[in-house]
Amino acid sequence: MTYEGSCHCGAVKFTVEGEIDGAMSCNCSMCQRKGSLLWFVPRDALTVQTGEADLATYTFNRHAIQHRFCPTCGLHPLGEGSDPKANRMGAINIRCLENVDLAAVPVQHVDGRSF
Ligand SMILES: [Zn+2]
Repeated sequence: MTYEGSCHCGAVKFTVEGEIDGAMSCNCSMCQRKGSLLWFVPRDALTVQTGEADLATYTFNRHAIQHRFCPTCGLHPLGEGSDPKANRMGAINIRCLENVDLAAVPVQHVDGRSF
């Protein structure tokens, strides 16, 4: 399955390959404010088609995750980082994908605030 995603203004467009088997809702200081639902994929499954150069990057805490956002519309469609085995990962905010029935996606609540 290929999902199409974008920021709000459309400057950033991307595709993601895979099956959405669940999403993570995290209560850390960042995710709680954004309200994102995150789906983790290998970084290679993510292709930023337009606007990669426009994406701004925000990091905090251990600076392990690059939170990427559109400086025009402010949307945070994805993040990038590495898993514990140093594989490059993409964290997709599935709220920014087209044609996803969000109500049907199992959501795991993660206590990121305690990490
Ligand atoms: Zn935008």
